Amino acid sequence: MPETTLDLSLDGPALTARLVDFPSVSGQEKELADAIESALRTLPHLTVDRHGNNVVARTDLGRAERVVLAGHIDTVPIADNVPSRLDENGVLWGCGTSDMKSGVAVQLRIAATVPEPNRDLTFVFYDNEEVAAHLNGLGHIAEAHPDWLAGDFAVLLEGSDAEVEGGCQGTLRVFLRTEGERAHSARGWMGSNAIHGAAPILARLAAYEPRRPVIDGLEYHEGLNAVRIEGGVANNVIPDACTVVVNFRYAPDRTAEEALAHVHEVFADCGVAEFVVDDHSGAAMPGLSHPAAQAFMAAVGGTARPKFGWTDVSRFGSLGVPAVNYGPGDPLFAHKRDEHVAVERITHCEERLRSWLTA
Ligand SMILES: [Zn+2]
Repeated sequence: MPETTLDLSLDGPALTARLVDFPSVSGQEKELADAIESALRTLPHLTVDRHGNNVVARTDLGRAERVVLAGHIDTVPIADNVPSRLDENGVLWGCGTSDMKSGVAVQLRIAATVPEPNRDLTFVFYDNEEVAAHLNGLGHIAEAHPDWLAGDFAVLLEGSDAEVEGGCQGTLRVFLRTEGERAHSARGWMGSNAIHGAAPILARLAAYEPRRPVIDGLEYHEGLNAVRIEGGVANNVIPDACTVVVNFRYAPDRTAEEALAHVHEVFADCGVAEFVVDDHSGAAMPGLSHPAAQAFMAAVGGTARPKFGWTDVSRFGSLGVPAVNYGPGDPLFAHKRDEHVAVERITHCEERLRSWLTA
C-alpha cells in the first residue's frame, strides 16, 4: 500500500524523491494536496487554507514585508519514469523532478524549518498548471481569494536552473483581416484582391524595429511577427478575404492596454478591415528594485536574466505583486522522459532561500 503522508523532516532531495513517487498528473492532485495540507497543519506557526486542490499556508508575524513562495503540484503524464531513481552522480531522475517537485520540496522545507522568518511568508501549492489556462489553480485562487496571494514580492519555484529569471513578457495575438471583392481571375480588374491588400501589413511587420528596453537592469526583447497567413478561395478566383495572424511579445513596461493600443497604432493605416484579439496574457514586472527583491538577489547571488516566455509570474503581476522564477529544476529537461535534477541544485536553492529569509 502506498504511503499517503509526507515527512517534512526529510532533506530536500529525499523529499523531492518522495514527491515524485507520489504521482499527481494534472487533474489527479487530490491525494498529494491532502498530504501537503495535513503535513502543513502539523506546523503551529502556519495558518492553512484550502480551495479545491490548492493549499495556501501563511505565517502571520506582523513583519514589514510579505513574500509569496509558489509552486504547482501537478506534472505532465508519467512516461515510465516513476518511481524516482537516484544515480551515483547525485542526479535524481523521474517525472516532476525538474518541473517542479524539487521546487515544491524546497517550499515545504522552508515552511517546516523556518518558523520565524524575517518576512512574513505565504506558501502556495496549486494544481493544473500543465493543462489549459482556465483550469490553473493559481488563477482559481486569484479569483476566489485574491487576499491569499497578497504580498510584496513573489518567487515561483519553477525550474530555472537556480538562476533568477525576472518578470515575464506579455503575449498578444491578433487577427488582421483585409477585404476585397471576388472576381474571375481572367478578369481580375473586375474585383479587388484581399491578399494584395495584406501587403501593407506585411511591409509594416518586415520594417518593424522591436524595442529592447532595460527594466530593473534586465534587457527584454520585444517581437512583432506574422505567425500565420490565410487567404484565397480557388486558383481562378480573386480572393475577397485574407487574414494575417500577428503575435506581439512585449516587455513588462507596457500594460496589456498599452500593448493593444500599440498594435492598433502600428497597423492604423494598413487597410485592415477587421481587427480581432484572439488571445492576450499580460506581462509581469521583475520588481527587482523592490527592497525584498534586492535582498533576495543579494542572498541568492548570480545575475538575473529576463524571462521571454509567458509564465505564471504574470498572474502575480496582474495582482500587483512583482515576481521572479527561481527554482532548482533544469527547464531544458521539463516534460521529458529523461527528466532529472541535480541533488546539489535542490540543496543550493533551499540554502539560498533560507539565508534570505533568516538573515
Ligand atoms: Zn512547471
